[in-house]
Amino acid sequence: MNCGGRPGRRGPAHGAPVKYGIIFAMSESDTSRHFLRQWIEKDVADGKTGGKVVTRFPPEPNGYIHIGHAKAVCVDFGMAELFGGECHLRLDDTNPTKESDEYAENIKKDIRWLGFQWSGEGDAGEPGFYNASNMFDKMYAIAEELIRRGQAYCCNLTQDEWKEYRGVPEKPGTPSPSRDTSPERNLQIFHEMRDGKYADGEWCLRAKIDMASPNIHFRDPVIYRIRHVSHYHLGDKWCVYPMYDFAHPIEDALEGVTHSMCTLEFEVHRPLYDWVVDRMDEQGLLPVRNGVKIRTQQREFARLNITYTVMSKRLLLQLVTEGHVAGWDDPRMPTVCGMRRRGYTPGAIREFCARVGVSKFESESDPALLEWCVREELNQTATRRMAVLDPVKVVIDNWPTHQAPSTSDEVAQAPSTKLVELPNNPLDESAGTRKIPFGGEIWIDRADFMEVPEKKFFRMAPGQEVRLRGACIFKCTGCVKDESGKVVEIHGTWDPESWGGNAADGRKVKGTIHWVDCATGVKAEVRLYDRLFTEKDPLKDGPSEFLKYMNPDSLKVVEAYVEPALAEAKGLDRFQFERTGYFVADEFDSKPGAPVFNRTVTLKDSYKPSV
Ligand code: ATP
Ligand code: MG
Repeated sequence: MNCGGRPGRRGPAHGAPVKYGIIFAMSESDTSRHFLRQWIEKDVADGKTGGKVVTRFPPEPNGYIHIGHAKAVCVDFGMAELFGGECHLRLDDTNPTKESDEYAENIKKDIRWLGFQWSGEGDAGEPGFYNASNMFDKMYAIAEELIRRGQAYCCNLTQDEWKEYRGVPEKPGTPSPSRDTSPERNLQIFHEMRDGKYADGEWCLRAKIDMASPNIHFRDPVIYRIRHVSHYHLGDKWCVYPMYDFAHPIEDALEGVTHSMCTLEFEVHRPLYDWVVDRMDEQGLLPVRNGVKIRTQQREFARLNITYTVMSKRLLLQLVTEGHVAGWDDPRMPTVCGMRRRGYTPGAIREFCARVGVSKFESESDPALLEWCVREELNQTATRRMAVLDPVKVVIDNWPTHQAPSTSDEVAQAPSTKLVELPNNPLDESAGTRKIPFGGEIWIDRADFMEVPEKKFFRMAPGQEVRLRGACIFKCTGCVKDESGKVVEIHGTWDPESWGGNAADGRKVKGTIHWVDCATGVKAEVRLYDRLFTEKDPLKDGPSEFLKYMNPDSLKVVEAYVEPALAEAKGLDRFQFERTGYFVADEFDSKPGAPVFNRTVTLKDSYKPSV
């Protein structure tokens, strides 16, 4: 990971321990001293945290987490780490319809992979891990107390009536006919709601706040509703479920969270958040730490948006269920598991989130910045290998096996296979070297040959010399074509004096190309991924139209030849295929002897970040 946030600075190699909070907080003068950091700093200085900053990441287990969530993860965990506090992982499982354990488990896996670990007490037998649903009893009790205090009432307006009564911001709304029902009667109805006496939507519980507020969310919002749906953990224990605006501040407060950070769309809900916390305070429910009453507060930052993709879980689910992609972890998906399978590194994702930064202004980020971060890290760490993705055969006519030896001595002196030794990573000596067999027939990439070379084409062409990476100088003499004119074989000769790559007489050769030995090279499936959408904003015509902007060429599968050292590549081994790009062995499909590689990112791009 690049901690510096500036181009050119290098991060530690794989596996090195990293203080992630640092990426959001570098020097005093740095822009990463963003408003959230300053906010927390002040509260710490004012003694409001009781000696411990506590944050939380609260995903709903209704899908896999994506790069946008990764940003929230970096902010929530990063801030806690920076202030030596703790960050809870809380599954916000208050909306039972779409939640599942599969999602919950994968959220945990992905956060850990990103390099973060929750800590704190926990309420589900695991330190730092909470389920909002474990607090349902307490939420219900708080609601009952609101009713007793005349601060909430049951309402049976229909959805349409409710909207009409609520009105528009410019004009005060109309009170519900149930607004002044007695607490006793309200409690009776609320219990009947819980006991299953009513159908979905027949009654709800509303907070009694202010029907004239210009903030529509403050006009007696619904805090409990009836849903006759099984919960993935609690089964049919409940048929009433708390609304997010009621549940979230209670969860934060009960867990002793000091700083609750979320995305901007919740800003208008903040007065309601504070209202609920105030009511908990009245009920004597706010926790006390080291003599300080912990009063949770919410602040909001801009979502992460990326061009050429969609990030709503609903649309990602649609891509999966309709089979437009191979699953949540399809390497083209903006999900964390998709990016892992694509070969992105946790460090590069964190670096990207740090570079995008924390602000109050909605903006769109270019996927090229993320790719740049990936390249920066892989350039330092990826093992170099040779692979030929679009192979054409080259026959070295004067190689010993292709010549009739005149004496048996000559055969002994010129074995048919020589070994080339190349570094595993020229930027990291400790990575060592490997030996690659080289024989009389090799594969090269079709694009490295031109029968009639253009100007400045210094690679393989008749009459032209080229260096075969690490091996020798080769002079092309011609090619064989099939009836359609396609080149099927290239011929030429090697210069035995140039073994190792340089000519004995000092003559210069401009081009160097990579190759794979035909006799020992291994066949591999290589999946070349590109952007999933051709349009910068696939939602520009609305969410029902986004599929028409899918890139028909977002996946191309080729049969390649790779050097023998790649035969055993296993899931998530990362490589630079020399002159081609960065690749990763597929997490699931790569098998010993039959490797499968995903292209993570091409080798070069003109993109450069502005800072
Ligand atoms: P989606 O809209 O994709 O369904 P969500 O906001 O409903 O996402 P949650 O599981 O509720 O998903 O999100 C958990 C946390 O992640 C919330 O605090 C939310 O604000 C944050 N988050 C979600 N999307 C983004 C994003 N694009 N950028 C930054 N934070 C995000
Ligand atoms: Mg949400």
